[in-house]
Amino acid sequence: MFNVLTRSRDALVADLPGVTRDRHYGICRLGTRQFMVVDTGGLADSDEGLAGLTALQVQAAIDEADVVVFVVDARDGLLPGDPMVLDRLRRASKPLLLAVNKVDGLDEHVALAEFARLGIADPLPLAASHGRGVQPLLDAVTPLLPAEIEEPAEAADAGGVRVAIVGRPNVGKSTLVNRLLGEDRVIVSDVAGTTRDSIRIALERDGKRYTLIDTAGVRRRARIEDAVEKFSVIKTLQSIEAANVVVLLLDAKEGVTDQDAGLIGHVLEAQRALVIAVNKWDGLSAYDREQCRTSLSRKLDFVAWAPQVTISALHGSGIGELMKAVNRSHAAASRTFTSSELTRALEAAYEGYQPPLVRGHAPKLKYAHPGGTNPPTIVIHGSRTRHLADAYRRYLENFFRKRYRLVGTPIRIEFRDGE
Ligand code: GDP
Repeated sequence: MFNVLTRSRDALVADLPGVTRDRHYGICRLGTRQFMVVDTGGLADSDEGLAGLTALQVQAAIDEADVVVFVVDARDGLLPGDPMVLDRLRRASKPLLLAVNKVDGLDEHVALAEFARLGIADPLPLAASHGRGVQPLLDAVTPLLPAEIEEPAEAADAGGVRVAIVGRPNVGKSTLVNRLLGEDRVIVSDVAGTTRDSIRIALERDGKRYTLIDTAGVRRRARIEDAVEKFSVIKTLQSIEAANVVVLLLDAKEGVTDQDAGLIGHVLEAQRALVIAVNKWDGLSAYDREQCRTSLSRKLDFVAWAPQVTISALHGSGIGELMKAVNRSHAAASRTFTSSELTRALEAAYEGYQPPLVRGHAPKLKYAHPGGTNPPTIVIHGSRTRHLADAYRRYLENFFRKRYRLVGTPIRIEFRDGE
């Protein structure tokens, strides 16, 4: 069911190691609207039942949710544990739907009747693996979503580059936001976010405007005496989606953790521009700095295009460099091309290194044209392009990246066969 709902972006199904052992996050898009789907580990599979780790994960997912869908298995029928699970779900006082899955090949009415005892009105029959019943489920979910969940409109922002500052708890997100605001003292106002959870802060710096998308809850913390805000994956993913440029904060003392790598994975899936800010640089000895640099370049070689900036949010060093990297990355992500320059570049790439033969035939690359920005997209027309090896695709990407100095942004290359 999760895969069907999030099919447009199933790569997002990737785990966030360390945070989401038993939770998966994906985005379901319905026209211009979108919502996040959280899949929890099966409660029934857990020996520990509601007391175990799974239950904690489920509870965390429920806490973050606007709508809860209780999925039961028509083939198994009502299980002894189901009423207990339901009891738990009811306590959350959130809109609750019952989806009865795997009804394919069964008498739907009989299958639904079995679960009538749970007392949830209008159970929804599903055959998720066949894609059946998904639309009625969406139709039932949609009216229950908060009205403001629509894609953030530009108008709701303070304008300028939308910058999301993300990272694990305690890496220094709030300190950085406060540093940015404090230094420049041009806090226009809080701009009400389009979703309940994201807070937008207007910032002007060196004559440029930005909208900071704050996941640290800086402003909230001032109100509520909340020392460490709970790390919300949903908020983080929403911020990444809404941003032009993501600043991922790392703690120099801890290097790149699994959780950091997971966050980078989400930035890649969302195809956002990325700057990596290594914070708390002030606390490192010269020796540690050297070690840290080596380890970073090794662990981050899968995003070698993302600038790395060392900063101290606390003392303010490196902040100018950081904002320069943000600007450069944003400019690269918004870069436009003409068809003729792209075709010339493609020809040069092709001449430099031709795709290896596949069963006696070489894939041909004929011409290219631009396919949009954020990220810069290059559409290449040719023949047999599906036979292009990954190594060749990477070669092309690197070629375009070098030629146009596209630092800080992913590049999307699409192939179209004219055969
Ligand atoms: P957040 O949870 O990511 O918002 O992290 P905070 O901004 O609350 O910072 C967590 C802790 O790290 C606080 O005690 C900060 O004072 C400290 N901290 C933040 N930035 C730096 C830095 O650049 N250097 C040092 N030494 N400590 C920092």
